[in-house]
Amino acid sequence: MEMKKFISMLISLLMILTAVQIPSYAAENQKLNANDYIITNPYENVDWETVKAYKAQFHCHTNASDGYLTIKEAVQLYYDLDYDIVAITDHGTNNLGWNKVPENIPLMRAVKKERSGGAYNPIIPLSEEEYAAYLNGTASTSDGSIRTNDDGLVDVAMGNELNMATPFADCHLTHYWCDYGQGLAGVYGDYETPSRESSKQGGVVMLSHVGEYVYTNKDTTSRYHVGQPVEDYYANKFARIFLDNPVGSSKQPGSVCGMGINSSEDEHTRCDRILYDQILAKTIPNGVVPWGFTFSDSHNVSSMNNAYCMMLIPDWHELDNAQRNEKLRSCMENGEFFAVSHYSNGVELDGEREFTAIEPDTSWPPEQLAKMNDTPMVTGIVVDEETDTITVEAENADRIVWVSDGNVIKREVSDAGDGEECTFTLSLHEDGLKNGLNYYVRFYVTGPQGICYSQPMVIRAADENGDPIDYAPVDVPKTHDLPAFLRGFVTVLDWLIFKWSPVIWIFKYFALGYNPIERLFNDLMIF
Ligand SMILES: [Zn+2]
Ligand SMILES: [Zn+2]
Repeated sequence: MEMKKFISMLISLLMILTAVQIPSYAAENQKLNANDYIITNPYENVDWETVKAYKAQFHCHTNASDGYLTIKEAVQLYYDLDYDIVAITDHGTNNLGWNKVPENIPLMRAVKKERSGGAYNPIIPLSEEEYAAYLNGTASTSDGSIRTNDDGLVDVAMGNELNMATPFADCHLTHYWCDYGQGLAGVYGDYETPSRESSKQGGVVMLSHVGEYVYTNKDTTSRYHVGQPVEDYYANKFARIFLDNPVGSSKQPGSVCGMGINSSEDEHTRCDRILYDQILAKTIPNGVVPWGFTFSDSHNVSSMNNAYCMMLIPDWHELDNAQRNEKLRSCMENGEFFAVSHYSNGVELDGEREFTAIEPDTSWPPEQLAKMNDTPMVTGIVVDEETDTITVEAENADRIVWVSDGNVIKREVSDAGDGEECTFTLSLHEDGLKNGLNYYVRFYVTGPQGICYSQPMVIRAADENGDPIDYAPVDVPKTHDLPAFLRGFVTVLDWLIFKWSPVIWIFKYFALGYNPIERLFNDLMIF
């Protein structure tokens, strides 16, 4: 058989196999009922009196991949929007610093040029002086406005969205702080390899907008699944990734620390919170808690401020960019942050909408959105282990929703006046908690301008000595889109045919923009 024919047959075979999924729904979990609970609060070490809330964008694109802004424009706009932390995550392209042109992927640049009607789109980084001014906060904002924090922007090193955004490589995750993925196209549905390799190389990984993957017909289908559990197959697949790459593992310096639960305008991600809850029910009994992130995934000026995270970090005024990167990293790993969005199209499992201030699928005008910084924000959390109560203080919020094991257990509307701080309390023992408690509680507060999600707090029953009773481990089967045999076969085939082929080397060099011989040598060194 001709080689070309053979390869195209192989590719079609792979695509057919990846389309086969076995639907099954999670069984109703048993509920937890105890006289005394132990609550693990990720915000336990936060000093609410002195801590700063730094505004972070973890996922955005420039024209180094499929975005429309230059690096210079994106940085200025995020600076104007009062951000403190920005990670540029271009597809298949490591951020080498905003003062450097990232390694080019000629193939992607060609596609970009095609898409933008042949316009030449130079990648424009910052000059050394500009870079220093943004980092130390001496640059001026476009409209002369004063930034909340005078510390400048943190340039998150080595951000990358691991894929090349091709339709055949639909697998989206971002990493930071590791040298992996430059010029790599990714394989459809293979979240496992980039998660593992980035973790091995010391990176911190976040799964992006997985709703685009679990409902493959992108734009249209997530709306038809609102309020429905995601197929258990996917909950197992992603839970497995968190279990295999946990924070603090002795096997690898990096980790997969969380996933996007609401991004862009929440169009594709409206069921991602439900999937997140399904995943938590599989990882928490096994001792791993993935955190929930929100991000804009912006490609142009109108979407830059859709969603972001507020990182709780002690004042870092005295620290330099590298030290701030370190602080940020441990903040991400420990879940000491809130995830915020202007949008929510979600419906809970009990059929209620998450956020009632805007109608589904409407957009804020971009000029208005850019100025809207009065999103809800939590300003204090007190966990009382004596009474098993959690008290939340929030601003710009008028209601709170408490979630446990994928179900709403309580909703509360504030009677505080407009613009006042409000206080909400949950007692784990109070009557009338709907659907019961299990594994964790998390909450979100909402207000006229958006939604703010907390990280989950693990709850366990206490024994008679007051010690936590651990959950029995839950079996999370390894799930792969390809059977082991086929994966092995493809790996060997790749090794035999592609790794050593001068034709492929030339393609990689000229189309993907990297030195294949050097890469091969590095791969061999890892073995
Ligand atoms: Zn993506
Ligand atoms: Zn993206």
